[in-house]
Amino acid sequence: MNTSSPTESPISAISATLDSTLGGRAAVVRCRGVVKTYGSGNSAVRALRGVDIDVGSGELLMLVGPSGCGKTTLISVVAGVLDRDAGECTVLGEDYSKMSSSARARFRGRNIGFVFQQFNLIPTLSIAENAAVPLLINGMGRKQALAQATELLAQVGLGDRAKDFPMRLSGGQQQRVAIARALVHRPRIIVCDEPTSALDHVTGQKVMELLRAVAAGNDLSLLVVTHDQRIFEFADRIAEMDDGRINRVSTGAGHARAAVRYAEDASK
Ligand code: ADP
Ligand code: MG
Repeated sequence: MNTSSPTESPISAISATLDSTLGGRAAVVRCRGVVKTYGSGNSAVRALRGVDIDVGSGELLMLVGPSGCGKTTLISVVAGVLDRDAGECTVLGEDYSKMSSSARARFRGRNIGFVFQQFNLIPTLSIAENAAVPLLINGMGRKQALAQATELLAQVGLGDRAKDFPMRLSGGQQQRVAIARALVHRPRIIVCDEPTSALDHVTGQKVMELLRAVAAGNDLSLLVVTHDQRIFEFADRIAEMDDGRINRVSTGAGHARAAVRYAEDASK
C-alpha cells in the first residue's frame, strides 16, 4: 500500500548528504565503489568496476556511454532490481542490501518509477489499466487506481484515450502512457533506460519535455540512460560511462562538450 502523502517528503526524513558537485542539492542516490560481475570464472563479465555517482534531489542526470559499458546494470542496481557485489549504494538514505526482499519490493513500489525503451506496456490491458499497474501492485482498489491513472493520463495529454489499447497508439503516445505509469504512484525517483531510442527526433524531444515538466512539478529526480545526444540539452548533469566506470561528470556548458566528445567517440 502506498502510505506516503504528497506533503511527506522522504528526503526530509533522511540526513541529507550535501555534495558540492550537486550544487547544494541533497543526494537522493549515492553510489561509491559499486561493483557488479555477471557469472564467474572464465565467463565472468565485470559490468561495474567501482562506480561513484550521486543523483541530486530534483535533478535530471543523464548516463551516457557506449553499448555494453554498464549503464543498464547501474540503473538496475540503483532501482533495486539487481544486487551489487561490493561498494555502497543508498537510495533516499536506505540500503537495499539491508532490506528483506518484501521490504525492498515495498520500497521500490513507493519510491521508484521505470520508463523503458520499448515502453513495456501490456497489450491486453487498456491504457488506463496499464498506467494503474503500480497502484494495483501496491494494493490499491481497482476503481480508485483507474481513477488516479486516468488523471495522470490527462496530465500527459491522453485523457481521452483511457479505454483504448496500446496497439492503437503511436510510439510517442505509448511512451507517454509509460510515463504516466512511472508517475502514478508518486515515486521520488524515475529511472529511464533509453526512453527516446525507439522514437523519431521530434517525438523524442516532446517525451523529454514532458519528463522534465512532470519532474519539475513533482520534485522528482530522473536518472536517464541514453545514446541520443539530441536530448543531452535536457540534462542538469551528464555522467559519461565507459567500461564499468564513470569517467567524467559535466554540468552547464559541459553538456555541449560532452555532446561533442560523444559524437566524436561514436564516429570512431
Ligand atoms: P549497457 O546498458 O551500457 O549497454 P549493460 O549494463 O547492459 O550495458 O551490460 C554491461 C555488460 O554486462 C555487457 O558486457 C553485457 O554483455 C553484460 N551483461 C549484462 N547483463 C548480463 C547478464 N544478465 N548476464 C551476463 N552478462 C550480462
Ligand atoms: Mg542498456
